[in-house]
Amino acid sequence: MKCSFCENIIEKGTGIIFAKKDGKILNFCSSKCEKNLLKLGRIPRRVKWTETYQKLKKKKKGGEK
Ligand SMILES: [Zn+2]
Repeated sequence: MKCSFCENIIEKGTGIIFAKKDGKILNFCSSKCEKNLLKLGRIPRRVKWTETYQKLKKKKKGGEK
């Protein structure tokens, strides 16, 4: 299972499960991710510490070669 925000792997029994009103289930590895997505409305690919951002960065670097 992956974190809905930072894409880190969440081990079974850890993390936070959040059910949205529209029925979507969100998984968070920590309350930090929950806060960033739900309260602050941040976009994962614009937040430096997320896996999503790191992957994009790597892709860009690869393309420059
Ligand atoms: Zn996370």
